[in-house]
Amino acid sequence: MRPSILYPLFAPVGTLKGLGPKLGRLAEKLAGPHVVDLLWHLPTGLIDRHFAPKVAEAPDGRICTLTVRIDQHLVPPSTRQPYRVLASDESGTIELAYFRGRADWLGKLLPIGAEMVVSGRVEWFNGRPQIVHPDHVSPAEAAGQVEMVEPVYPLTAGLTPKTLRKAVLSAVAAAPDLPEWLDPHWLQRRAWPSWRESVRLAHSPGDEAAVDAMAPARARLAFDELLANQLALALVREHQRRISGRAVAGHGELRAAVLASLPFAPTGAQLRAVAEIETDMASDRRMLRLLQGDVGSGKTLVALLAMLNAVEAGGQAALMAPTEILARQHHDTLAPLAAAAGVEVAVLTSRDKGKARAALLERLAEGRIGILVGTHALFQEDVAFRDLALAVIDEQHRFGVHQRLQLSAKGRAVDILVMTATPIPRTLTLTAYGDMDVSRLTEKPPGRQPVVTRTIALDRLGDVVSGVARKVAEGARAYWVCPLVEESEQVDIAAATDRYAHLREVFGARVGLVHGKMKAAEKDAVMAAFAEGALDVLVATTVIEVGVDVPAATVMVIEHAERFGLAQLHQLRGRVGRGTGASTCLLLFDQPLGETARSRLAIMRDTEDGFRIAEEDLKLRGAGEVLGTRQSGMPEFRLADLAHHSELLEVARDDARLVLERDPELKSPRGEALRTLLYLFERDQAVRYLRSG
Ligand code: ADP
Ligand code: MG
Repeated sequence: MRPSILYPLFAPVGTLKGLGPKLGRLAEKLAGPHVVDLLWHLPTGLIDRHFAPKVAEAPDGRICTLTVRIDQHLVPPSTRQPYRVLASDESGTIELAYFRGRADWLGKLLPIGAEMVVSGRVEWFNGRPQIVHPDHVSPAEAAGQVEMVEPVYPLTAGLTPKTLRKAVLSAVAAAPDLPEWLDPHWLQRRAWPSWRESVRLAHSPGDEAAVDAMAPARARLAFDELLANQLALALVREHQRRISGRAVAGHGELRAAVLASLPFAPTGAQLRAVAEIETDMASDRRMLRLLQGDVGSGKTLVALLAMLNAVEAGGQAALMAPTEILARQHHDTLAPLAAAAGVEVAVLTSRDKGKARAALLERLAEGRIGILVGTHALFQEDVAFRDLALAVIDEQHRFGVHQRLQLSAKGRAVDILVMTATPIPRTLTLTAYGDMDVSRLTEKPPGRQPVVTRTIALDRLGDVVSGVARKVAEGARAYWVCPLVEESEQVDIAAATDRYAHLREVFGARVGLVHGKMKAAEKDAVMAAFAEGALDVLVATTVIEVGVDVPAATVMVIEHAERFGLAQLHQLRGRVGRGTGASTCLLLFDQPLGETARSRLAIMRDTEDGFRIAEEDLKLRGAGEVLGTRQSGMPEFRLADLAHHSELLEVARDDARLVLERDPELKSPRGEALRTLLYLFERDQAVRYLRSG
């Protein structure tokens, strides 16, 4: 149970001053659902309003805070022109311009004759200074209320800086004094403020230095987050050690039947991974293994053999995928293969409802379904296995430790296999997965033709379209990916929709469109049409990144490739080259290309080796970014940035281990405080792993 001292922090973000339900939804989109999420939404910079020149000396383009007298209001003849207010000091006159300014409101705000403090960006126009929409105006006697250093936050459309700032300050005010969870000596050595003070300082930086990642308040918050992360991982590990697993060793007949039915033989890498998994499953320790393998390296077969091992031993297996499309696709791949061994594979997503769902659950509870594939829907309370022995999680960067634990709670000593297509360097794996064992599929199935990758400037779009048309005429199928810039999904969808319209003029009705805002059923229908060959070209936002399998597709066009990270480009390119046909990947870039983007595209041209690409990515971006981004499969730290805080990560790891050695139940005063820390960072599940939760 979350301690009551944290309740104010877990109130809905919409309850904060100045938000309400509508703005609350925007704040939720921006930061997260709770008050605490807004605390974690740290400023990325600041506006310094200290510069207070005379009007005549206010430089063009700079934020200035001016003390002026209001002289005259100039009401515009038409609403297309701005409402102007003239103000002056002894050095000269400045114009304050308001588009669609209302006379009554401005009359009250800026009364003629009043001494006012006005702050905003000064621009010189026709030899006269002006400020368009000053950020702040207040009577000179109330000037103290203007925040002279104003933090700048990442925003979202519809939420103004002022509204957000007010909500953040009200969140800061709601932050309680929490018991200190940091080691007193360490705290002293670093001269870090308390948690509450750190939160306050982080949101009220006095100068540029205070926005730096290593500023005491920010470093402390980052360390708190890392400590929560490492402590949670350590608790999971302890838990794994403590509860004994079960020995699962099948007779091998089902696996033999499936292997005999395949038109190919497993690769050496697949056989090695399977052997490692079988050894883990056979031991009475719980398995917690990560299967890393590039897109197309054949992880599915490895997972299937592991799952059949569980079934042979009398248990059941679950495979969880991050999306509906992927779950169904896994099901469609696995079902016919497992059928060769007489094993029933079913699929369960949130779309399954009513009688069919009830019947499925019954067969599951009776143990007639050997393998259940699904999405998050597998966590629903009424989903009960007869005897779940193995959970496979197709991570594709979407799940956290938390969900892995939830799934394992569905059975007794469930072995866990996590699959990821991101070839993450070993050191980085540790921070995300703790001490997970790792199997790597380093070799691709034979017979694959390399994907020919070319980079082309976007202004040669016409050539690209006719090139694709030629390939299509020869029977090829093509993906056409438009980038997703996360800040504005709307704009991206518009770009994809435009491209779709454009390509329809060339390809007619044999072009389809999928994007993230479509309903799952619509998306599936378009994907299915593409898979069946009813469509030749599929225009998509990056929704197709996630594991979609159409072996017949041999052309991948990526528009604005310069906007994608290496890992993402690699994932996208992996969508082609899956069949036996020769494949092409065209990376369209917009000029001018920055140096990093140029290197990225060059690496893509050079190699298809995911592990090498991961290493290069690390070199180009540094660990911080590789770990920090959504695509990386790493936990998303809100406060820690490993480019700056990696030293803190190591301390946090050691500290977590030491704490648990000395106080495994977190019973000491510091231990109690650390429990609060875990709840603060929503590691509730980890707390439950304490023997006396
Ligand atoms: P991943 O999940 O790692 O991206 P998949 O498991 O989907 O890769 O495998 C990609 C394709 O390769 C599938 O069509 C699969 O049937 C095929 N495949 C898997 N293993 C082999 C193998 N040993 N030899 C030939 N083809 C294979
Ligand atoms: Mg797969």
